[in-house]
Amino acid sequence: MTLSFDPDSLDLPDGHFIDGHYVAASGGMTVHRPSDGVAFAECPVAGKDMVDRAVEAANRALKTSGWSSLRPRERTKALVRWADLMEEEAVTLARLEAVSSTRPIGQLIAGDIAITAEQIRFFAEFADKEGSDLVPTDDHSLGMIMSEPYGVVGAITPWNFPISMAGWKLGPALAAGNAVVLKPSEMTPFSTLYMAELSVRAGIPAGLINIVLGDGPTTGAAITGHPGIGKISFTGSTSAGSAIMENIARTGVKPMTLELGGKSPQVVFADADLDLAGEAIARNVLANAGQACVAGSRLIAERSIAEALSEAILRHMHQIKPGPTWDETSQYSPIISERQIGRIGSIVQAAIDAGAECMTGGSRLERSGYFYAPTLLAGVDQTSPAVTEEIFGPVLTLQTFETEEEALQLADHPTYGLAAGLFTRDLSRAVRMTRRLQAGTVWVNRYGRSRDHILPTGGYKSSGIGKDLGRDAYLANRRSKSVLINI
Ligand code: NAD
Repeated sequence: MTLSFDPDSLDLPDGHFIDGHYVAASGGMTVHRPSDGVAFAECPVAGKDMVDRAVEAANRALKTSGWSSLRPRERTKALVRWADLMEEEAVTLARLEAVSSTRPIGQLIAGDIAITAEQIRFFAEFADKEGSDLVPTDDHSLGMIMSEPYGVVGAITPWNFPISMAGWKLGPALAAGNAVVLKPSEMTPFSTLYMAELSVRAGIPAGLINIVLGDGPTTGAAITGHPGIGKISFTGSTSAGSAIMENIARTGVKPMTLELGGKSPQVVFADADLDLAGEAIARNVLANAGQACVAGSRLIAERSIAEALSEAILRHMHQIKPGPTWDETSQYSPIISERQIGRIGSIVQAAIDAGAECMTGGSRLERSGYFYAPTLLAGVDQTSPAVTEEIFGPVLTLQTFETEEEALQLADHPTYGLAAGLFTRDLSRAVRMTRRLQAGTVWVNRYGRSRDHILPTGGYKSSGIGKDLGRDAYLANRRSKSVLINI
């Protein structure tokens, strides 16, 4: 079966998804296709009333289904059926994502959807494995720490990996016994709606997953400030994370997990395997055209090998195969919007104007849609916006060092600390550097996440609070209650 499709002949899910049904809504924000720039759909904007309706549906579903407390193994079974159905329906799901996002359909089928299904099964297995603990007491007392879900979790996701990000939020929240009200990005709403539809077809009680569409200031704020929501789980930019913290502080305190932006370094020592490093660095910075939170966008190379390493990276950069996301042979993603193309261009131009050498790229690709050429900038200053700002594009900066101390100074970002890469054959240096790098994840002699969802992910500094994935993500969706009984 061919995966390629005609973007004009796709049936799109219509409206919000609340209590197991689509709720029609008209008007809203224009949705564009990044692959050709065509405005092809509208995303409605849920106001407070619609968010209230979703939260009520979630609370009702929790009560009537007994999802939280009665049958934990039933949660596992239903979530596994949902993961299976996502794989069975992978082509439809992938098309609904590819049409408005930057993810090529071939990568969605082989990567995002398969990995998300695996992650949901991983979280499903926690449902009946984690329980309450008895604590030591005297003979007349019974002390225990009970573990409970929050009730309704409010989740907000970005546009860059819509299915994966929805899976990161929904999998652990549901396995832990919660219901969810989720707002996907207004630029890529369709695949998340279909995931929710599939959940009901798989036997997850209607009302446990509710999807409300809309923008951040209206719909997002109605979720984060909602008194009926017990916890917030957010993935997006650091600036939106700050706005969410403010809104939560203003409207009543509630716990939150924030997965935010990054500007991650890749430090390469002269003793590293340069072919391996060059391939890993280029593959990562070209993945989703650099539109990934963990994009290793700052190359910090030991001076003696900087030239050889850049040649290895350039070889990979010159092999890209751009194409529309609905063509199964496309490998290189478009940029999400015309506005974002302009932002990438201006940061790159400012670096060049300030004296950086553009070793390749530096401009938009001449074709329809929003494509930007892989770009390598050498000779950039540590204070250049190309080095300090999360560009969210296929732009790699190159800085050089001579000592370990200098490498650490360059690697350390004043605000971000999401991830870091380290390439060396010297094990003691790898351990020493890993201990000193300020990042929530350190990859040694590789770069990027694949099927390693056992490892939690999250940021140091302003890259976030708390963790997604791993056992931590399951536990983050439960809270403890201390109980002491006089017997
Ligand atoms: P964004 O912050 O603009 O939007 C993310 C989501 O938040 C969207 O659904 C948006 O509508 C919503 N939102 C925006 N303002 C809001 C507000 N005030 N209140 C509530 N909701 C609000 O981010 P984006 O452009 O969609 O995604 C890119 C960003 O996401 C990058 O910074 C990237 O690093 C980050 N990201 C982080 C991770 C991680 O795991 N740390 C993963 C993926 C993406």
